[in-house]
Amino acid sequence: MPSIAAYHRPDSLDEALSLLAQPQTRALAGGTVIVPESRVSRPEAVELVDLQALGLDGVDVADDRITLGAMVRLGDLMADDRVPQLLRDLARRELPSALRNQATVGGTVALAESESVLLAGLLAHDAAVGFHDGSERPLADVLSTGVGDGLVTAVSVAAAGTGTIAATGRTPADVPIVAAVARSSGDGVSLALTGVADKPVLADPADPAAGLSPAADFRGSPAYRLHLVDVLSRRAVEEVSS
Ligand SMILES: Cc1cc2nc3c(=O)[nH]c(=O)nc-3n(C[C@H](O)[C@H](O)[C@H](O)COP(=O)(O)OP(=O)(O)OC[C@H]3O[C@@H](n4cnc5c(N)ncnc54)[C@H](O)[C@@H]3O)c2cc1C
Repeated sequence: MPSIAAYHRPDSLDEALSLLAQPQTRALAGGTVIVPESRVSRPEAVELVDLQALGLDGVDVADDRITLGAMVRLGDLMADDRVPQLLRDLARRELPSALRNQATVGGTVALAESESVLLAGLLAHDAAVGFHDGSERPLADVLSTGVGDGLVTAVSVAAAGTGTIAATGRTPADVPIVAAVARSSGDGVSLALTGVADKPVLADPADPAAGLSPAADFRGSPAYRLHLVDVLSRRAVEEVSS
């Protein structure tokens, strides 16, 4: 018995929402995770609801914010010169290149991988997540609660500022053990960290380790990670402040 029972490609948000209200359906964005996950044999098959025909793949610039549609691919983000350079650079660091051309901004937010440097960059860029019902919530809140039943339609970010990343990994090509992403703008410096909690988090540039209690894994103890927080945050904040 197939584990994917049906594929739907709605061309309106209303139709997508009515399909996704059915218990066996799941949203399909880039499919880098949901497709392999859905193909695992399971007692109840799922139906995939493809979001690609909903017109959620635009990038809009208005005043001091840039809105990225949920279906903007990470590969497109990298190539778009309207997108802040920091986010373009961080998108390049995510996933192998073939998968970057599939994976989407909305899927990245919904999955909320703890070591996503792009999510750290979005946090540093004051990101807000837009949902199907027109509501908008700060990305930091969405990462801590998860998207739940919400359909992410867009992510808006502050356009201004310059940023950088300081990171330590086992090799330069590995996902960082800890990364510090800093952005400087007229509003001051913002800082976000990966590798110190179960999601990327915002931190105080003046006291970046405050309140953190990272878990250990084979790549580093809590004490080592806190040491990296201190060193990498200072490095990133100094760079954007100079
Ligand atoms: C080899 C490999 C390497 C990876 N490396 C990284 C990495 O370096 N960094 C990283 O962050 N992640 C990584 N991932 C995880 C994942 O690929 C990314 O997080 C990716 O961006 C997911 O996006 P997608 O569009 O492919 O999501 P999909 O696979 O299509 O969907 C993922 C989940 O999000 C839900 N979803 C998708 N879009 C929406 C939406 N608009 N609203 C609500 N829910 C939605 C889906 O229903 C599903 O549950 C990796 C995955 C693989 C297979």
